[in-house]
Amino acid sequence: MVRNVDPGNSATCRHCGAPVKFVARAGLRQVIANVYCDGVWDRVEHYHEPCYADAGRPHGRVA
Ligand SMILES: [Zn+2]
Repeated sequence: MVRNVDPGNSATCRHCGAPVKFVARAGLRQVIANVYCDGVWDRVEHYHEPCYADAGRPHGRVA
């Protein structure tokens, strides 16, 4: 799932550690990945869209 960054979003990128919200000004997008452990939802990870690709798309392709 990829969506535009919400203003005030304080999430940081799991790949580069920078606040994801900063990319909003550049018109870039973030990747929000729901992470499951043993079939149970565990957490949400945030990435900049290019960082997600750099990380090798650990949670699969996003639309
Ligand atoms: Zn990043």
